[in-house]
Amino acid sequence: MAVREPIRDTSVLGSYDVVVVGGGPAGLAAASSAARGGADVLLVERYGFLGGMGTAGGVTNFAGLFGLVHGETRQVVHGVVDELLDRLDRLGGLNEPQQGLQGRITVRSYDVSTLKCAADDLLLAAGVKLLFHAVAVDVAMDDDRIAALVVETKSGRRAIRAKLFIDCSGDADLAARAGVPFETGDGHGGGLFPTMMFRVGGVDPARALAAIGEFKAIDGLMSEAAGRGYRFPREGAIVRPQKNPTEWRVNVTQIRNAQGSVMDATDALQLSDGEIEGRRQIQEYFRFLKHEVPGFEHAHIVEIAPQVGIRESRRIEGIYQLSGQDIVGCADFDDTIGVNSWPMELHVAGKVEWGFYPDGSRGFCQLPFRMLLPKGVSNLLVAGRCASMTHEGQSAARASGACFAMGQAAGTAAAMVASESTNAALRELDVSSLQTKLTAQGAYLGTDL
Ligand SMILES: Cc1cc2nc3c(=O)[nH]c(=O)nc-3n(C[C@H](O)[C@H](O)[C@H](O)COP(=O)(O)OP(=O)(O)OC[C@H]3O[C@@H](n4cnc5c(N)ncnc54)[C@H](O)[C@@H]3O)c2cc1C
Repeated sequence: MAVREPIRDTSVLGSYDVVVVGGGPAGLAAASSAARGGADVLLVERYGFLGGMGTAGGVTNFAGLFGLVHGETRQVVHGVVDELLDRLDRLGGLNEPQQGLQGRITVRSYDVSTLKCAADDLLLAAGVKLLFHAVAVDVAMDDDRIAALVVETKSGRRAIRAKLFIDCSGDADLAARAGVPFETGDGHGGGLFPTMMFRVGGVDPARALAAIGEFKAIDGLMSEAAGRGYRFPREGAIVRPQKNPTEWRVNVTQIRNAQGSVMDATDALQLSDGEIEGRRQIQEYFRFLKHEVPGFEHAHIVEIAPQVGIRESRRIEGIYQLSGQDIVGCADFDDTIGVNSWPMELHVAGKVEWGFYPDGSRGFCQLPFRMLLPKGVSNLLVAGRCASMTHEGQSAARASGACFAMGQAAGTAAAMVASESTNAALRELDVSSLQTKLTAQGAYLGTDL
C-alpha cells in the first residue's frame, strides 16, 4: 500500500563548496579539514549536538588512536584529532589512556558533555557552518552528480546545493539515496550487534577496581551471578571508570530483533523496538551491578544513551573495500591516507570475538583513499563506519581513530577538488598531493614502518 505525495518545489537553503552529512568522528574531521583547506563548508546533523555515536550513542571513548607498534604502545592517529583531544583536556573532560586485554588495546574516555562543547569549538574555529536538527532525506541528481541534498527541518523541507558532498552519516544515508550500491552485515543474515550504552555514578572506585580491574574480569562475577538467576545478553562486558572515577561506563547490552538476529539499524520499526529492549536490558544489568559487584552498592544510573549504539549498518561499495585480511596483514597501500590500529572486534551473538594484529607486528594497516570513493557518484566521498569495507574490515576500522583519519582525508580532498572547478572529479585527484597536505597537517600515513 502506498500514498502518492504531491510534487513540490523545495526552496534552497544555501549553496556551498562542500556539504558534510553527520557530525561523528568522521564528520568532525571532514568538515574542519575541508574548511581549513579554504572551502565554504556546511555540516548537517540530525541532532542538536556533535559527536556521533560518541555522544548520541553514549560511547564516551576513543579507540583506535593507539597501536601496539612492535610491542610498544604508541599513538598512531594524528591530525585534527589532536586538536580535539587538546580541547577536551583543556575543558577537563579527557581521561588518561586506559589499557585492556593484556595491553593489546589502549583507549581514551571522555565526558559526553565536554565532547559536545569541544566539537562545537573545533568546527566553529575552522569556519564550518552548522545546521542542526536537519535530517538528510533525499538527493536531487544531475547525471552521476548530486546536485542538491534534501533535508527535513523544523522550518520544513529544504534543498542544499554543493560542489561536493561527504557522507559521514554512519549509515550511508546520503550515498544510498544517491544510488551508491552498498552491503549490510556479514552476508549470511548476521552482522555486528548493536548495544545500548549507559553510565553509572556513585561508584566506590577503589573497591570496584579491586573487584573487576581489567576488561575481562567482570565476566567471572557474571558467570557466578548467572547461577543465581541473572540473565545477561552477552559475555565480554566492558565496565570501566571515566575521568571522574566515581562514574563508570557500561557496554554490555546486545540488541536483537524479534527474530533473534541482529537488529537492522536502517529499519525504523526494528530501531524503535531496539531502543526499548536496550533500556530493558540496562535495568537488569544495573540490578546485577548494584547487588553483586563490590563498589556499586550505592551507584545510580547517570545516563542511558540518547539512542541505541549502532556498530554497523550500510557499508558502501567503493573503488576498494578494506578487508579483514588487510587489517591483520598490516596492509600497505600506495594511496594511504592514514592508518587503522584497532583489531577486529566482532560483536556476534552472545559474545565479542577479537582478531588481533600479529604479536610483534607494526600493529596497524594503512587506509587507502579508494575506500572513500563510492561507485557511481562522482562528487561524493564517504568516510567513517559506512566507508567501503568488508564486514570484517569494518569491525576494526569503524573505531573512532580510523574514522578521524578517513574524515580528515575526505575533507582535505574535497577542498582540493572544490577549489579547482565546478565539475572537477574526485577520482582524478592527485593522491600524492593529498598525502603531502595530510602529512603537513600532522596526519600520520604509516609509511615509515
Ligand atoms: C556501543 C558501541 C560502542 C563502541 N565503542 C567504541 C569505543 O569504545 N571506542 C571507539 O572509538 N569506537 C567505539 N565504537 C564505534 C564508534 O563509536 C563508531 O563506529 C564511530 O563513532 C563512527 O564514526 P562515524 O563518524 O563514522 O559515525 P557516527 O559516529 O555514527 O556519526 C554519524 C553522525 O551522523 C548523524 N546522522 C546520521 N544520519 C543522518 C541523517 N540522515 N541526517 C543528518 N545526520 C545524520 C548522526 O546523528 C551522527 O551524529 C562503538 C560503537 C558502539 C555502537
